[in-house]
Amino acid sequence: MKIHEYQAKELFGAYGIAITDQAVISDASEASAAAERLGGTVVVKAQVLVGGRGKAGGVKLADNPADAAEKAKAILGMDIKGETVEKVLIAPAADILKEYYVGLIMDRASKKIILMVTKEGGVEIEELAVTDPDKIIKFPIDIATGIDEDALRSVLTDVFEKPGLVEQATDTVKKMYTLFVEKDASLVEINPYALVDETTLMALDAKMNFDDNALYKHDDVDGMKNPEEYSQDEIDAKKFGLSFVSMDGDIGCIVNGAGLAMATMDIVKLFGGDPANFLDVGGSSNPEKVLNAIEIILRNRKVRAILINIFGGITRCDDIAKGIIMATDQIDIKVPMVIRLVGTNQEEGRAMLEEKGFDVADDLSDAVRKVVAS
Ligand code: GDP
Ligand code: MN
Repeated sequence: MKIHEYQAKELFGAYGIAITDQAVISDASEASAAAERLGGTVVVKAQVLVGGRGKAGGVKLADNPADAAEKAKAILGMDIKGETVEKVLIAPAADILKEYYVGLIMDRASKKIILMVTKEGGVEIEELAVTDPDKIIKFPIDIATGIDEDALRSVLTDVFEKPGLVEQATDTVKKMYTLFVEKDASLVEINPYALVDETTLMALDAKMNFDDNALYKHDDVDGMKNPEEYSQDEIDAKKFGLSFVSMDGDIGCIVNGAGLAMATMDIVKLFGGDPANFLDVGGSSNPEKVLNAIEIILRNRKVRAILINIFGGITRCDDIAKGIIMATDQIDIKVPMVIRLVGTNQEEGRAMLEEKGFDVADDLSDAVRKVVAS
């Protein structure tokens, strides 16, 4: 899950990380009063869940409250990488002497949290990562033992040089780390971590992503969820206990188990098709889930065929068959459905489906070939 900059800054503030004061507005008429309160000279920033706002024209400085209203008006409604700007953040404009980058990410391969830091932060960071990756220092942190403070200070000394700045950066990284771990984040990033006068570093931007599977532990974070991140189908699927992700293709997929669902998408691709979605109905069998899955998939007008791929273990094939029959009774399904059904109670399941005139495959390649050709 992603959150907006202003939301990440609220969390930063709660963890004692130095941020600037802020106001968030969704109507340009509120901008001048907000700017007035924040000292007049402000920065107006689009709040969207994608990066690269600066380069897209979504971050503008304003000299006075009237100017802030102009800038807010220009940014609100703007389209940034397919997202419409509904809110802007207004903050006192800082003088930037230098832009650093500090980020913590979860590295699944090494099972460590990696601190990335460089003195060449700012809007060109992605470029730097490609052209000059060695300029980004990486410091792995073992989650079991936490931060080795002396080692951290030594790394940050190379970047921030002056003792006063090194102390601030060390303190900030420790707080970012605590925030990361306590809230089950997958990313905590400050870019720019800016030198705003000779002796002060500030988080002028804030980015956080979270592990969706841990959201149940954090009502505060879950409460920050932004509807624009998820499609209506994804929201409904979650309510029904289905793991669902919308994709661009035209073959609807209903599969049991996340691993098999991924493999099924790969095989659809391999046979020249394009999946319309990832969908895992989960381990337990429940005819309702199949009905709900078909209903959600069919909302997508692009879907021209549905592939149901079940490898029954805990999932019982007869329950799946019941769900498919329920769906055909209740919904007018106009697209072909190709069903592959093997495993627990496959005879019962097949018999039920064949009685209703369905063709059931036991070979996955056959089923995929058929759905792609249909
Ligand atoms: P991003 O492009 O989405 O990462 O948005 P940022 O919040 O990082 O802003 C982009 C750039 O705008 C920063 O790298 C800064 O150069 C500039 N910027 C942001 N806030 C301020 C500010 O308060 N004062 C000044 N002078 N520049 C700012
Ligand atoms: Mn930034």
